[in-house]
Amino acid sequence: MEAPPNEIAKLSRLIEASQSVVAFTGAGISTECGIPDFRSPGGLWTKYKPIEFSEFLASPETRLEAWRRYFKLYDEVRNARPGRGHRAIARLVASGKATHVITQNIDNLHQESGVPGEKILELHGNGTFARCLACGERHELAWARHEIERFRRPPHCLACGGIVKTATISFGQPMPDDIMSRAHAVAESCELFLVVGSSLKVYPAATLPMLAQRWGARLVIVNNEPTDFDEIADLVINRDAGDTLSIAVV
Ligand SMILES: [Zn+2]
Repeated sequence: MEAPPNEIAKLSRLIEASQSVVAFTGAGISTECGIPDFRSPGGLWTKYKPIEFSEFLASPETRLEAWRRYFKLYDEVRNARPGRGHRAIARLVASGKATHVITQNIDNLHQESGVPGEKILELHGNGTFARCLACGERHELAWARHEIERFRRPPHCLACGGIVKTATISFGQPMPDDIMSRAHAVAESCELFLVVGSSLKVYPAATLPMLAQRWGARLVIVNNEPTDFDEIADLVINRDAGDTLSIAVV
């Protein structure tokens, strides 16, 4: 086998030397699984103006439109399976090397790769199920779709009648405090903070690498394109996430 480039060998050594790794993942880890980066130029979010959370709350018609758009997207990506990057991170977790995965993705692929749910912090929620905004009750997408098709109106909570929404964080929707405070705690206590497939442009998530470094962690960024944090990183690898991790994590 071809010897890995120096930078990948360096990543392997940094992982080897760390007692606790935290992986921070973004859209770039899932593109090889067929899930497009909606924020990228030409991506879906640059074509349609996203529905803001306040608009979603304000009208049933907007909620219905949001659900229809969501199912259109979901049907395109629902069969996606974990890629090489997900599997490499799952190996790091299984070996005890990685303590947590913080992700900006909503695709559930870290869970599907075998990482236990309690070790995954989903900053933008999860797109494979729905929740009541009033009482938090979980509802399944198949049920929501059935309700919409049958009654031509957005679904309401079976437990309390509240508004049901995909369990994702929409534009303008506050991120739950407990997730961010857990992410801070995890970032502050790791030895290596490994960014994979994120351009670190979305705040407050993008503050985590700096926080980790301030508390003494090494910072590694594996991303297809440069980020604003490259200058402070200990190692930057501008390559595909799957290509890189599948070699770096044996
Ligand atoms: Zn409810």
